[in-house]
Amino acid sequence: MPARSRLSDAQVAAVARHHFGLSAPVPDLPAGDAFEDAQGVPVAVRESDGLAVAEIPRWRSPAEVARRLAERGWSAPAAWVGRPPADATQLPARVLALLPVAGTPADSAAVSAGAAAWADVRASGREVELVLVPVTAAHPEVAWADLAAAYGGTLLGERVDPEPARTGGQVLFFTGLSGAGKSTIAGRVVELLLEAGSAVTLLDGDEVRHHLSAGLGFSQQDRDTNVRRIGWVAAQIAKHGGIAVCAPIAPYAAVRADVRREVEAQAGRGSFVLVHVATPLTECEARDRKGLYAKARRGEIPAFTGISDPYEAPTDAEVTVDTTGKDVEACARLVLDAVLAGRVQ
Ligand code: ADP
Repeated sequence: MPARSRLSDAQVAAVARHHFGLSAPVPDLPAGDAFEDAQGVPVAVRESDGLAVAEIPRWRSPAEVARRLAERGWSAPAAWVGRPPADATQLPARVLALLPVAGTPADSAAVSAGAAAWADVRASGREVELVLVPVTAAHPEVAWADLAAAYGGTLLGERVDPEPARTGGQVLFFTGLSGAGKSTIAGRVVELLLEAGSAVTLLDGDEVRHHLSAGLGFSQQDRDTNVRRIGWVAAQIAKHGGIAVCAPIAPYAAVRADVRREVEAQAGRGSFVLVHVATPLTECEARDRKGLYAKARRGEIPAFTGISDPYEAPTDAEVTVDTTGKDVEACARLVLDAVLAGRVQ
C-alpha cells in the first residue's frame, strides 16, 4: 500500500468542507494519492474525478445535524455563529450555535472558551445545540447564512473572533550562543516573576536535554526536535494561561518561527516573547564558563554552535540584550519590562 500523506488540522477541515458540500472546490492537498490525519487515521483517497472520503472523525455532517434537530422538533432554529452575543438575553429559547474552529486543535483555549461561553447560556435556561464546524473563523470559506442553512438553521447573528483569543499565558523564549547568559538571565527573570506573584515553569536548555530530550544529539535534525519539544510544552502551558520560560540555544530561525506560530495559535497573538541574548562570540568564548569553547577549538566537540555549527541571529526578537559589561539584574529587568508590556490588560 502506498504511504499516506499526513494532513494538518486545517487540511482535514478543508476535506470536511468539500465532503459536506460547504465549499465546492477540491481542496489543495499535498502530493500523494492517499491522506491521513495527524493521528494517522485514513481520511481520503484521490480519484480521477475528485476525492473519495473515507472518514472525517472530528466533524459532524451538516445533513446529520439538521436531520437530528428536525427529529427533535427544531424546525429552522435560530442559528448563531461564533461566541454568544455579549447580551445573551437577546437569544431565543432555542439556539443552534455553530463554532467555526477549522485549523485549531480541539483542545485549544479558543475552542474551550467558546464552548464554555455557550455552557453559560445553557445554564441560564436556554436550549443550546453546539456544533463545531470546519470553517476558519478568521477567513470563512462559506457565508455565515449559507453555513446556518446547511445545518438546518436560520442565521440570527454572529460573533466571530478574527484571531485566537489571548489566554493570558506567555512564553518567554531565550536564544543565543552557549555562555551568552541565557540561563543566568532566565533564572533571575523567573525569580522576578515569582516575586511579582506569577507561577512560572522554567524549561532550561541543559536541563531539558537530560529529561524531555534525553538521547538527542546536536545534528540539525536533533537540535530542531529538541526546540520543537520545548516549544510544544511551552505552548501547552501558555494555552492554559501559564508562563513558560525557555532557554535553549535554538540556533535555527525557521524552527523558532514555527514555535512562535504554535504558541500564538494556542495562546493568542503577542503571547510569544523572543529574547535574543546577543553576547558576541568573543565574549562568550572569553568567559568559557563550562570549558566547552576550549574543547570545541581543540576539535573535541563537533558541531559546536558559533565555532563549527551555525547560529542564525534572529531579526524578529522582541528584546535583544548584549550582556557585555552589564550586570545580570539590568538584563533581567529589560526582559521583564518586555514581558509586562506584552501582558493582556
Ligand atoms: P547560557 O545559558 O547562554 O549558555 P549561562 O547563563 O550558563 O549561559 O552563562 C553565562 C555566563 O556569563 C555566566 O558565567 C554569567 O555569570 C556570565 N555573565 C556575565 N555578565 C552577565 C550578564 N549581564 N547576564 C548574564 N550572564 C552574565
